[in-house]
Amino acid sequence: MRKIGIMGGTFDPIHNGHLMLAREAYKIYHLDEVWFMPNGRPPHKNIETIESDVHHRVEMVKLAIEGHPEYHLETYEAFSENTSYSYQTLEHFHNCNPDDEFYFIIGADSLFTLDSWVHPERIFPICTILAAYRDEIDTSGEMLEQIHKLESSYESVDIRLMVTPLIHVSSHELRKKIKNGESIQKDVPEVVEAYIREHRLFGA
Ligand code: ATP
Repeated sequence: MRKIGIMGGTFDPIHNGHLMLAREAYKIYHLDEVWFMPNGRPPHKNIETIESDVHHRVEMVKLAIEGHPEYHLETYEAFSENTSYSYQTLEHFHNCNPDDEFYFIIGADSLFTLDSWVHPERIFPICTILAAYRDEIDTSGEMLEQIHKLESSYESVDIRLMVTPLIHVSSHELRKKIKNGESIQKDVPEVVEAYIREHRLFGA
């Protein structure tokens, strides 16, 4: 049995906040692997607001996790023709790996929208959810309230609050910084910064 963390995201671009989240989950929950899973057509984000092509987003993830044998790039959603629903993806992983335990790693903003996802009741029985604080939404009280709400609305809910360092970075802010010609050196791995420059992504 493996303990596998799933770190899904748009990764437009991947940044140090994502990497911190994965690393903390890996350490705190003694995971064997973390799968970084860029989404292709996420239901919760307007496809128009994703600025870089999926191939670039995948490539940036690949570069960011290079040299970490415990990390793995998972392209199941990235290259799917259809909208990717987390419940379908997780059921797929669960069915293909029935002996493994899955840990779905999310930030606070995702915790607050979880009950509006499609079929959250199919997600809970097949994975543990690791939810981390995130800068502006860092009140543990509100997060615990949300967890209790989910626990009373659904069955088999196992959501753990993860106390992680706060990294004040979002892809949205980074895209703005790049457009304004500001440095993103402190926010992304060097190889990702170089890739963005080389391919002139986000108006670089
Ligand atoms: P955008 O700004 O474009 O909405 P994002 O920075 O939130 O993007 P996503 O790829 O949408 O990045 O995020 C994937 C997951 O990582 C989400 O669950 C999100 O909550 C979490 N996450 C992103 N940035 C951070 C951060 N700085 N600290 C903790 N969690 C984060």
